Amino acid sequence: MKKFVIAIDGPAGAGKSTVAKLVAKKLGFLYVDTGAMYRALTLKALNEKIPFSEEEKLINMAKNTKIELQDNGVDYKVFLDGKDVSEEIRTEEVSKGTQFIASILQIRKILWKMQRSFRGRYNIVMEGRDIGSKVFPDAQLKIFLDASVKERAKRRYLQLKEMGLEGDLNIIEKEIIERDERDRKRSISPLVRHPDAFYIDTTGMSIPQVVEKIIFLCKNLNPQ
Ligand code: C5P
Repeated sequence: MKKFVIAIDGPAGAGKSTVAKLVAKKLGFLYVDTGAMYRALTLKALNEKIPFSEEEKLINMAKNTKIELQDNGVDYKVFLDGKDVSEEIRTEEVSKGTQFIASILQIRKILWKMQRSFRGRYNIVMEGRDIGSKVFPDAQLKIFLDASVKERAKRRYLQLKEMGLEGDLNIIEKEIIERDERDRKRSISPLVRHPDAFYIDTTGMSIPQVVEKIIFLCKNLNPQ
């Protein structure tokens, strides 16, 4: 029998990571963060000083890269060619660079293959932008997580504050709008709301409420 897949897609800041991790933990599923894979390749390109305009070089680099995601239910780590880069991939420079890596079809194909390989082994919660539309169009449960731009900017602002960093709410909001535009408008595998995805607007909802809703939907589909 095919392993169970919960595909969670949505724009930046909708709460996908927090929610997906908690859902995976509660259900005993593996959590897979596909954004971390695009980020890891972006970091490698930056480290190796490969310009984002050099598609062939970037594709070659991706072919010769090992990305591992580790989820032991407590820590979620990302290894790039054996090195722990879990923190390095979260910088603003990497966030900005992902758009170039994410729009190269050959690179997406390499990552799709890695992403699909998880299914044979585990029940998974996979989050990203194209999981329900491209990676697992036959996922048993598809969720599209959304929130208003203002709410997403506020969450990001508070997240930075927690990390001891000062942010400007207006600038954060502008950056979120720009990243959304790029993810939704790119020609290859854009962020789309799949017709059979459950749409959840998390504006004004607490994290536990969103988690419970997804688990409820999952249990209704998979009663055991
Ligand atoms: O989810 P996260 O914000 O870490 O993703 C970083 C970037 O990677 C996104 O802005 C998007 O451009 C790209 N991405 C993608 N497809 C995915 C996951 C992420 O194109 N499935």
